[in-house]
Amino acid sequence: MLDSAFPITFAAVRKKNVVLENVPVTAYAAEGKALARHDGKVIFIEGGVVPGDVVDVRLSKNKKDWAEGKAVHFHSYSDKRVAPFCQHFGTCGGCKWQMLPYSQQLTYKQQQVADHLQRIGKLVLPPMEPILGSVHTEHYRNKLEFTFSNKAYLTNEEVKALNGEIPVRPALGFHVPKLFDKVLNIDTCYLMQEPVNLIRNTIREYAVTHGLTFYDIRAQQGWLRNLVIRLCTTGEIMVNLVIHHEDKENRIALLDHLLKTVPAITTALYTINPKGNDSIFDLEPKTYFGKGYAEEKLEDFVFKIGPKSFFQTNTYQGEVLYKVTRDFAGLTGSEIVYDLYCGTGSIGIFVSRNARKVVGIELIKEAIDDARENAARNNVTNATFFAGDVVDICDDAFFAHHGQPDVVITDPPRAGMHEKLVNKLLEIAAPKIVYVSCNPATQARDLALLDALYTVEKVQPVDMFPHTHHIENVVLLKKRVNN
Ligand code: SAH
Repeated sequence: MLDSAFPITFAAVRKKNVVLENVPVTAYAAEGKALARHDGKVIFIEGGVVPGDVVDVRLSKNKKDWAEGKAVHFHSYSDKRVAPFCQHFGTCGGCKWQMLPYSQQLTYKQQQVADHLQRIGKLVLPPMEPILGSVHTEHYRNKLEFTFSNKAYLTNEEVKALNGEIPVRPALGFHVPKLFDKVLNIDTCYLMQEPVNLIRNTIREYAVTHGLTFYDIRAQQGWLRNLVIRLCTTGEIMVNLVIHHEDKENRIALLDHLLKTVPAITTALYTINPKGNDSIFDLEPKTYFGKGYAEEKLEDFVFKIGPKSFFQTNTYQGEVLYKVTRDFAGLTGSEIVYDLYCGTGSIGIFVSRNARKVVGIELIKEAIDDARENAARNNVTNATFFAGDVVDICDDAFFAHHGQPDVVITDPPRAGMHEKLVNKLLEIAAPKIVYVSCNPATQARDLALLDALYTVEKVQPVDMFPHTHHIENVVLLKKRVNN
């Protein structure tokens, strides 16, 4: 119920562009939106709002049971708020929850997992384990991609100060949300340890002083496009500079300057991308310096990570997540384990010593190549990996050939599992399923279907991304005895 101290003006309720006044925000909803209620109507609110704030909301959608909008004015702020620590907060698209104390962020994430599983999944839940917070709440990422643009984003104050004469200014930083051609110049980012800020700022400064051109995404011209930096817990640093076309002289001069200024870089690559989009997956990065990949460690397993490989972006919490997964699987050494959506095979490899056999399946062929190589590097001889769509690969013949699973580990992308796969899992009826998810909403949907045969035994949220609304959740399912 709303606090009657804040009467809401609810003029023309179903019309668009209505501004609701004095709305007390009561909770967080999914995807980082805040939530308020009025007359049984749910209002989702964007715009840096936290529960406890009282705001005016301009509606962009207005349906019968719910509405959506943006906070346009703050009447008062929640007393739970803290001062954001980053100078780019509010403009940059990342770390949107910095105004909440970390403990409060964890509380909201925990609540959301429970909420999704109960409301969407309509599941009977065991007591949930408290969310495992990240030991590092800053500098926790191992990879970031920065974008070059010839159009720096300017704040309203900066635009005003320029009296409408907006110069074309080069930028190297992050895309501003919803403005695809504008990039915010990042000076200090707290997502990765040094020398990441030094690397980015060195390249920008050199490029500006030497007149190198920054990409113009609308005109599709300009030389410098993207900068991908990976920093591993092993100390290795991999830099991949993405350029629009070859310019040997400038490329060598820029990379040499970078390597001289930041000698800690262990490998530097460049990738030529003449395409209209930023994806490098269909391109061939070329090694300029070092071995062309980096090595990351989880426990005593070593993983080779190439410029196109996927790896959990928070190494410390990745290890925590995999440990939870391995614990939930409860392996004794005699089990056949399927690792569905296995990426570069890291979960399968991580549990391989505790299993008789691991079978990994993943859509992207290059990831499977990495998985096989990583297994070999770690002397894992009981894991096999297959490239293809899990829905196509997981047929009766495949299970007959590779063995009925004792444990299925599944780690699908945000969309969750395809219904056909869920049905197949119900048919195969492995005694245990460990479901690792980065989206509790789709996880809840899939669990509701699996409920036909499985009970939720354990729920363990893990926070991989402090200061964001993203949630990772691990669920252990056990086949019901009487089925
Ligand atoms: N378990 C891995 C990766 C999880 S990310 C890890 O911990 O690192 C999800 C993975 O699912 C991605 O690698 C993606 O390429 C893969 N994927 C997405 N759709 C798929 C499908 N239909 N079949 C097989 N793999 C798929």
